[in-house]
Order: sequence, then structure tokens, then C-alpha cells
Amino acid sequence: MSDTYARTTTSAWRNWAGNVTARPARAVTPASVDELSEVLRRASEDGLRVKPIGTGHSFTAAAATDGVLIRPDLLTGIRDIDRTTMTVTVEAGTPLKRLNLALAREGLSLTNMGDIMEQTAAGAASTGTHGTGRDSASISAQIRALELVTADGTVLRCSEAENPDVFAVARLGLGALGVISAITFAMEPVFLLTAREEPMTFDRVTSEFDRLFTENEHFEFYWFPHTGNCTTKRNNRSAGPAAPPGRVGAWVDDELLANGVFQVACSLGRAVPATIPSIARLSSRALSARTYTDIPYKVFTSPRRVRFMEMEYALPRESAVEALREVRAMIDRSPLRIGFPVEVRTAPADDIPLSTASGRESAYIAVHLYRGTPYQAYFTAVERIMTAHGGRPHWGKIHTRDAAYLAGVYPRFGEFTTVRDRLDPDRLFGNDYLRRVLGD
Ligand SMILES: Cc1cc2nc3c(=O)[nH]c(=O)nc-3n(C[C@H](O)[C@H](O)[C@H](O)COP(=O)(O)OP(=O)(O)OC[C@H]3O[C@@H](n4cnc5c(N)ncnc54)[C@H](O)[C@@H]3O)c2cc1C
Repeated sequence: MSDTYARTTTSAWRNWAGNVTARPARAVTPASVDELSEVLRRASEDGLRVKPIGTGHSFTAAAATDGVLIRPDLLTGIRDIDRTTMTVTVEAGTPLKRLNLALAREGLSLTNMGDIMEQTAAGAASTGTHGTGRDSASISAQIRALELVTADGTVLRCSEAENPDVFAVARLGLGALGVISAITFAMEPVFLLTAREEPMTFDRVTSEFDRLFTENEHFEFYWFPHTGNCTTKRNNRSAGPAAPPGRVGAWVDDELLANGVFQVACSLGRAVPATIPSIARLSSRALSARTYTDIPYKVFTSPRRVRFMEMEYALPRESAVEALREVRAMIDRSPLRIGFPVEVRTAPADDIPLSTASGRESAYIAVHLYRGTPYQAYFTAVERIMTAHGGRPHWGKIHTRDAAYLAGVYPRFGEFTTVRDRLDPDRLFGNDYLRRVLGD
């Protein structure tokens, strides 16, 4: 055990967006499940609370603690690839990027994923990280089993067969139930996706949203505020051959336009907000149509170097277009100048109590602002629209909802808190964020 404490530090922690900081009493980097159990035991003895972190990509204070911060860096790696059950088991701190690369090398892949792959497996699952899909759902929904170290140091194996009540809720556990030490995901033979990116007008996308959603396995679009322009992306499985974007074209689109030029445009817009509508008109026209075919993680994810703040709400899918039109009308009526596109994605209903898509077909509306831009007025106005539609906020993205509201939009909320009360009666894993969203 002295090893773990030799790796103890006390420096401040800050998230990716820079809006959450914490000063833990100590930070530890356990290298095994035994060390993890020992960390929990010591924290209890010292009267300190505990919080495992991932890579700090949440915009909420979900991972913040003034107690013992558990770093994921030595709980990484692939434990097992099982081609009979078509599952892969990873240590919980494994970055999704490492998982994707390891699977691809073996001719395998996850089914669906979000926009980036920097997060850890446990961090991504704990807030319900999702991409877009008609039939395939979030990272949490792809979990087949997990290993959870609970407050008293017990190592619980959870699946539909073992501890099924814990498994049901712990796939999206908000870090409230214990420290996940390993996750088993469903996987499949690697496949090809053909991506079709195409500009479309706001009126067309919104009037044809149902058809675009139904006809594509993965449909999403971005709307550029102050314009009538959108960029759409349709990803569908393809027999091949692979036809990745050319190196120069990919660099121009993914690095120069999406990161380099966008960074300059954001800085200009932040300094001189009056320029934002003209910049939006220009940037919404800069991305031209393109089609390419590649393996899943290369199509789903891309680097995001421009730092931003984000709020995202899941709505019943049939409400999404109306809510988006309300967001547009609100921006047009207001003095707000919004330089970041609004992203719309979808997910099928799943069976995870605190999943934003729990029990209902969902569409997500995400709003972003360049880091350093005051975001409250915009996010508050959007949040009012989303909550009027019974929206459920992404657990890792900015929102102001509390337990009273959340219990109303999650029919299975009580199922989660019952398991939490049993596993963590003394709130070893508590923090201010959990007190707000779970009620104590
Ligand atoms: C640039 C960017 C792009 C993003 N894109 C998407 C996207 O496409 N889709 C989407 O849905 N979200 C997206 N997000 C949000 C992000 O995926 C989530 O906030 C995710 O939870 C971050 O994972 P992390 O590893 O950084 O975890 P952290 O933010 O560090 O932690 C998140 C939560 O996980 C808990 N946790 C971490 N490790 C463990 C463990 N071992 N056991 C138990 N609990 C644990 C923490 O305590 C905390 O509650 C994005 C965020 C950024 C900054």
C-alpha cells in the first residue's frame, strides 16, 4: 500500500473546459483493484470523501472533490477479448482511444460512439456519453458487465446474471455507486461506414428530419445560428471499399477549418460580437459536401481543439424540431450573438434508469459557446425551452436542474437512489454535484 501513497499528490485539479476546479485533500493513483479497495478504506478512516476522475471532459462538477481524488492513469489496458461472447473487457481508466485502436488492430469495433475518444471508459459511461444513432445507443448501453468497488471495499461483479439490480443502474452511475474498476463492452467485427456530409438549409432539415432520421443509421446535423444553413452528416454501413478522405482534404476540413480557422473565428467573435453573424454565414458555407468510407472510430470521432462550454438536452424525439425552431426564434429575438453551431443527434430508447434516453426515443439538442464567452444568458434561455419539453440534461454538460426536477423526468429515478442508499449509505462518493442532482 505504501506504493499508492508514494504516488499521492495534493495539487489542484481542473476540467478540460477550465470552468471547474477542485483542491482535493489528496490525489492517488492506484494500480490494482486491491490498491483501490485500500484507498477507499483509508479515506473512510480519515473521514474523507472519494471521487474517481476520468480525463475531466465533463463540464459539470461531477468529478470534483475536496477529499480523495482517484486518478485513472494506472488502471488502464485491455483485460480480455472474448470472440465467443463478442465482448471486450477493459480496465476502467482505459481511454476510449486506446480501446478503439486495440479493437481495430484485432479487426473489431464498438458499435457506436460520441464525437471524441479522449475520455476514459468509466468516465464516458458514468455520464451517459452518446453519439447519434437510429438503432444503436450510448456507450453505457453497450456495456455487458462491470466490476464495481463499493464503499466498504467489496468488489461486485455486475451483469444481467450477477447482481442485476446493481448492473441495471451502474452502467450510468454518475460516480455515485462506487469506483468502477473494469467494464465489459459488446463488440462486433470491424465494419465500414460511408459518411456523407452535406450542407442543407434549416427549413429542409427540419421539415425532412423524420425521413432523414429513418433512412439513416446515424444522422446528425449542425445549425449555424444567425443563418438558415446547416451541415448534415449521414453515416451508414457499407460493403466498401474503404475510401478515407484524402490527406490534404482531411487536414483542410478537420484541422484547418474545424480547428485552426474556427479558433481564429471564435476569438474574433468573442472580441467583437457584432462580427458573429457574418462569420457564421461564411463558416456555414466553408464546409462543402464530401463522402468518404472508413472504419467506425475514424468516421464518428474527430479532434476538438477549440475549447468551449456546452449544454445538451435529450427530448422526446418528436419534440426536437419544434424545440429547435423555438431556439432559433429566441436567438433571433434576442441581442445574443452565437458563434458556435447547435448540434442535433438521436438515440433509440434504452433500459438504463438514468440514461437520457431511458424508456424513450430521444433527440439531443446541444448548444456551445467559445470558452471565455459569458454563457449564462444563452444557456438559461435554451434550458427554459428544453425543460418545457420535458428535457433531460446530459449529466456531464452544464445545466441547472435539481433532484426534484430530475425525479419528474426520470420515471425510474427511485430505482437508482434505492441502490445508492444500499451501496453508499454514508455518501463516501458524494460531492456537491450529486447532492444537487440526487437530492442528498
Ligand atoms: C470536447 C468534448 C467533446 C465531447 N463529446 C461528447 C459527445 O460526443 N457525446 C457525449 O455524450 N458527451 C460528450 N462529451 C462529454 C463527455 O463525454 C462526458 O462528460 C464524459 O463523462 C467525460 O469522460 P471523462 O473520462 O473525462 O470523465 P470525467 O469528466 O473526468 O468524469 C465524469 C464522471 O465519471 C465518474 N467516473 C470517472 N471514472 C470513474 C470510475 N472509475 N468509476 C466510477 N465513476 C467514475 C466521475 O466521478 C464523474 O462523475 C464531450 C466533452 C468534451 C469536452
